[in-house]
Amino acid sequence: MAGYDYDLFVIGGGSGGVRAARVAASLGKRVAIAEEIRYGGTCVIRGCVPKKLYVYASQFPEHFADAAGYGWTVPEASFDWPTLVANKDKEIARLEAIYKKNVEGAGGQAFHSRAVLVDPHSVYLVAEDRTVSADQILIATGGRPAPHPALSGHEHCIFSNEAFDLKELPKAIMIEGGGYIAVEFANIFHGLGVDTTLVYRGQEILSRFDMDLRRSLHETMEKKGIRILCHSISEWVRKNPAGRLDVLLSGGQTLTVDQVMLAIGRIPNTENMGLEGVGVELGKTGAIVVDQYSRTSIDNIWAIGDVTHRVQLTPVAIHEAMCFIETVFKGNPTSPDHDTIPTAVFSQPEIGTVGLSEDEAVKRFADIEIYRASFRPMRHTLSGRDEKMLMKLVVDGTTRKVLGAHILGPDAGEMAQLLGIPLKAGLTKDDFDRTMAVHPTAAEELVTMYKPTYRVKNGERV
Ligand code: NDP
Repeated sequence: MAGYDYDLFVIGGGSGGVRAARVAASLGKRVAIAEEIRYGGTCVIRGCVPKKLYVYASQFPEHFADAAGYGWTVPEASFDWPTLVANKDKEIARLEAIYKKNVEGAGGQAFHSRAVLVDPHSVYLVAEDRTVSADQILIATGGRPAPHPALSGHEHCIFSNEAFDLKELPKAIMIEGGGYIAVEFANIFHGLGVDTTLVYRGQEILSRFDMDLRRSLHETMEKKGIRILCHSISEWVRKNPAGRLDVLLSGGQTLTVDQVMLAIGRIPNTENMGLEGVGVELGKTGAIVVDQYSRTSIDNIWAIGDVTHRVQLTPVAIHEAMCFIETVFKGNPTSPDHDTIPTAVFSQPEIGTVGLSEDEAVKRFADIEIYRASFRPMRHTLSGRDEKMLMKLVVDGTTRKVLGAHILGPDAGEMAQLLGIPLKAGLTKDDFDRTMAVHPTAAEELVTMYKPTYRVKNGERV
């Protein structure tokens, strides 16, 4: 090991890579990390963090409107997009510096360079024009928005990356896709006053979530004024003489908008980095194939996070980084646990969810109990906002184990984090029933739904 420059070389300075580099360095290992663009990666620079800041920004018009019922008079509000973008930039620059400092503070060396594998133990640093060697190499280069070359006029479209830094806020936008990013950005743009149309190819938005949440969110978004067109895809995008974009949809309808944003999934960053040359196996989508310990087809090369195409979530990449450390540097082989991952969609209202949807549970279990409550949250009584909150527990009727918990409404993401614990622990509905409510909260509903709303036996609702 002493023959190498480093014990560990990490390629990619996002959430997963930085965590692995920092922890390995703090264990006394000789560590270096290379990041080509900005430390912090997708989550900090062009994903979760700026997204959540924009979600907050987009919620103010509703807060202003809701204030009247509580006795407040709010003078006419106005919004300045460049101020939001500049303040977001300041915050992510602060976080970026912290990410880099954390690695260096632990004793690691942080490079600003593209890194290309030369052989299983050597990495060429493009910006430095030199090659360094390492005993172990970890690839954590993440992913990027999937392009859509089949769409005629795709060169006129933007992706989430560009959406954060538009020179000006469009008057009208069309967003293609029905996943996390499309839905979150549709709500952001609408909240900021943009005429927003969401175009989704399937039957209902958010295909991997519980159908009750999907339908209720769809309904609420439409009530707010977001146009949602399901069973629809764009056929072409053309720039018109006025400089706006015309879009022809599969149903024959034409839209004229200022921006078209594509949010049709993300692909791994694995090109032109020497992977094929050293024999690292890639899957069909270009993602790195890894075993249960995140080891690639080359013994001393490992990969974590979105580049592996397991589950594309920041906390998952961080968890995989910690398992990698246990396996490689602590002599404790640990495989990441991808079961029962809580998640949130920062739509408006928000989705928080963990475990099986009703449809998934029905496929796997013969007897399912559904506990479901739909109510107006207390906050909306005086505000007068006509928006319901939805809570749903999916329970195995035989063992009473809670298999899924699904929430639509304010703070659903926060609740999903806490619900992740009892579901991960395999607790039963009786444990929920024995838990004292916190009053007055919306979450108390989760422990006070005593009778099933309905059961599903062998696929039949009874
Ligand atoms: P998703 O996989 O969530 O959704 C992609 C959407 O695009 C789906 O609705 C899919 O339809 C649709 N689609 C795919 N290909 C096409 C096509 N050729 N034409 C039209 N529509 C198409 O991806 P996102 O881009 O929204 O997000 C990427 C990942 O990032 C997510 O999976 C998530 O893991 C992560 N993320 C997490 C967030 C969070 O935790 N809050 C926020 C943002 C992203 P269909 O349903 O029919 O397949």
